[in-house]
Amino acid sequence: MSSFLNILLKNVLGGPSTDPFPFGPTFEPKRLRGRVVIDPDKCMGCGMCKNSCVAGAIDITKDAESKGWTITVWQDSCCLCASCRTYCPMKAVDIVPDWHSAHFEEDKYSRIEQHTIEYQPCTVCGKPVRVLSLEKARELYRNDPSVDPEQVRHMCRSCRQIKDAEAHVDILDVIPKKPAKAGTAAPEAEAKA
Ligand code: SF4
Ligand code: SF4
Repeated sequence: MSSFLNILLKNVLGGPSTDPFPFGPTFEPKRLRGRVVIDPDKCMGCGMCKNSCVAGAIDITKDAESKGWTITVWQDSCCLCASCRTYCPMKAVDIVPDWHSAHFEEDKYSRIEQHTIEYQPCTVCGKPVRVLSLEKARELYRNDPSVDPEQVRHMCRSCRQIKDAEAHVDILDVIPKKPAKAGTAAPEAEAKA
């Protein structure tokens, strides 16, 4: 009898040992797939996520005046397969463990992840361009300390290529030149002959 009373007292003082949810937070596994999120600083609008989405839960709409695009993820259509995260080349998609998806019927169309991303003028030629994320620019130019990633990420691809060529023009002198074929000598060489 005394051992029973001991157990009873221990349990009463210790409180419930079951999960406290919904009156308190519950355990969340680290890799739980709860909700898709998009990082607008990394997204390049390539459409890989949309094309790989089995549920048709992603939409990418270009701005009518070509000023950018809007990416939308419909949370109620998403089946959390993680295909978008796998195929996104910019690592702009993630799935966070926020699993609190209960909602009223009238809120079903507002459960979206949406970002509008605008082009910016290239800092050299002014052409509308999607600014590279600083992380991506650092990755691209990690082997070239002469390039400032913060500067080049605001440039269009053509201007970046020209800047690269100008920065490395000295290597042209060490590239072996092919001997000219007979009869195809440069005009100035022919003039001297
Ligand atoms: S989220 Fe990723 S895959 Fe989708 S459009 Fe943006 S960069 Fe492309
Ligand atoms: S997790 Fe799967 S279903 Fe959900 S948006 Fe990504 S690709 Fe589509």
